[in-house]
Amino acid sequence: MTHTVTGAMPSHADPATRASELAAENQALRARMAYLLEQAERNHSIMCRHQAFDLDIVGAGTFPELVGTIFRNLPVISELESVTLTLIDEDADIRTVMGKLGVVFADFPHLIFVEQVDELGFDLGRRNASTPAPKPLLGMYDPARHALPFPNAPAGLQSVALVPLMRNKRIIGCLNLGSVDPTRFTPSLGTDFIEHMASIIAICLENVISNEMLKYIGLTDSLTGVYNRRYLDRRLLEEIARARRQRYPISLMFIDIDHFKRVNDTVGHQGGDDVLREVAGRIKDELRLSDALARFGGEEFVVLLIDADLDSAAFVAERIRASVAGTLIGLTQEVRLSVTVSIGVACLDPDQAVGEPELVARDLLARADGALYQAKEGGRNRVIRHLPA
Ligand code: GH3
Ligand code: MG
Ligand code: MG
Repeated sequence: MTHTVTGAMPSHADPATRASELAAENQALRARMAYLLEQAERNHSIMCRHQAFDLDIVGAGTFPELVGTIFRNLPVISELESVTLTLIDEDADIRTVMGKLGVVFADFPHLIFVEQVDELGFDLGRRNASTPAPKPLLGMYDPARHALPFPNAPAGLQSVALVPLMRNKRIIGCLNLGSVDPTRFTPSLGTDFIEHMASIIAICLENVISNEMLKYIGLTDSLTGVYNRRYLDRRLLEEIARARRQRYPISLMFIDIDHFKRVNDTVGHQGGDDVLREVAGRIKDELRLSDALARFGGEEFVVLLIDADLDSAAFVAERIRASVAGTLIGLTQEVRLSVTVSIGVACLDPDQAVGEPELVARDLLARADGALYQAKEGGRNRVIRHLPA
């Protein structure tokens, strides 16, 4: 290789040479300037994209909206081939609640749940309140070591970053970033940026998960785990509107446990609670996924059946009645109890469903309740349908 030492040449010797030297210098400076400008523009655009991303995830109102936004947008704005998320879910509470709220986990193949924090692979040692947060793990992708964070690793994955998601000094999960560029994540790289990104994601996740939990608590009955009255009232209005649009019948059952006061008197309030749970379970076992079961009050349940006419609803009601009456409810090894229910059934024909949805709902509930009253009058442990006039 040869080197030319330009500084050693008297550049003022030849004006033509001097001019061309200046032109070259000028061009080099311009190129450098253009490069810096381009870098600045690129950095600015990355920053804007990240700011927009932050706003998107902060604005996500539900769990699926949040994780959907992360999986859709983060690979694009960060130019990554793989982004996955591992969440710690010890007793499967998150999965249970989200499942009940209708989240379809198959829609999120990049969402991974683990039971224990040590499954994430961070060196946690003996942690206490003052232990600093574990640092992100950056390095080469290793299919054996990274099978958990990258279950469907894209072809050619080369370097990865596993970034802990921290909330109040607690690890709630891990953000897993993967690139086909081997130099993208190396152990010597600074991690401020990805740690900052992970901290925003962690806040959003915690926020959305607790909101969903609250929503769930607000819609379910804590004793039996089935929906509560507030949920049913709302759902009924939605279903009336949908049934009108799509022109199918819906039916409603009022179920009341017979002589429940006696049950409490015999086995105590605690035993009575166990009976309520068992009856709720037996009702649920007879329903389809599209049907909704709610505890309406003390020992009363309401079932909403979608796309079911009076005959088929009465058929299901009869199965419920038989299931409750058919086998004794065992509270302990010694205490077994015979319990029965009375059921009133009413149907909403799409052609009759005219007028205010609130009034239609109230009328449907009243007709089922009227049929239940007749079932009680008629001797209990029976199903009565409200026949249209
Ligand atoms: P009927 O056959 O006419 O329905 O008689 P019943 O005794 O079931 O009717 P009633 O509505 O008079 O009594 C309902 C009882 O349910 C009274 C109440 O103490 C009891 N109850 C209401 N909520 C709960 C609860 O959460 N747990 C328990 N164990 N009992 C409850
Ligand atoms: Mg009652
Ligand atoms: Mg009762």
